[in-house]
Amino acid sequence: MRLRVLGAHNLESRDTRMESHLIDGVLALDAGGLTRALTFDEQKQVRAIILSHRHFDHVKDLLPLGIAVRNNGVTVDIYAIQDTADFIKSKLLDGSLFPDFLRSPSPDNPVFRINVVGFKKEFKVLDYTAMAVPVPHAVPAAGFQISSGDKKLFYTGDTGRGVADIWPDISPDVLLSEVTFGNAMEETADRVGHLTPALLMEALDKFKAHHGYTPRVIVSHMNPPWEDDIRRELKELTRETGIEVQVADADEVIDL
Ligand SMILES: [Zn+2]
Ligand SMILES: [Zn+2]
Repeated sequence: MRLRVLGAHNLESRDTRMESHLIDGVLALDAGGLTRALTFDEQKQVRAIILSHRHFDHVKDLLPLGIAVRNNGVTVDIYAIQDTADFIKSKLLDGSLFPDFLRSPSPDNPVFRINVVGFKKEFKVLDYTAMAVPVPHAVPAAGFQISSGDKKLFYTGDTGRGVADIWPDISPDVLLSEVTFGNAMEETADRVGHLTPALLMEALDKFKAHHGYTPRVIVSHMNPPWEDDIRRELKELTRETGIEVQVADADEVIDL
């Protein structure tokens, strides 16, 4: 699997894009900074999108993508848990802001088709096997394990303390995890369901205790005002624990 980081932040600016990643050019993980990162030709190659939860910074580019690919003759499959699917259908893709992407250009061949997935049940998406696992966040949210051949990636989406509870359900080689705030914001992170460097390391300790190994770790979803702190604190924690953590940069391509 080849992972392309499209957006690695939770805020948008000239220099930052919201959370989105692309696997092998065809499968998107969240759609925050999707269209801003891709050429029109690349947008037309996207065949499926997995959404972790309903928050705007993860779903907003469904609209510009829909407009860009609507005359492409291809239906893009969206995979999401029930809560996410309900909100996407009723708020974002209800046809009031943009054309009705769930029914046009034709009901049989719409721009987007929403597929609801259950927790802890494997499903096929393109050539991959995927599975949603519930993660603690401010709204119902899922992390997704994506497998191809013998490689497994786990994408946390947005999650907070307690993410370690799901380690028994997954066994990834690569963990693409959120870290939103610096360590000074632990109380806020706990209140709204996000991770800090220290909370990530705590969760990684538990991962190793359960599985006997540490996955390759890539960090994303940084809150820009806290990015310098996050990078520095992750480095300090790597020195203390020996656990290497890579911080995702937009446009970076990572072979898994
Ligand atoms: Zn969120
Ligand atoms: Zn977010």
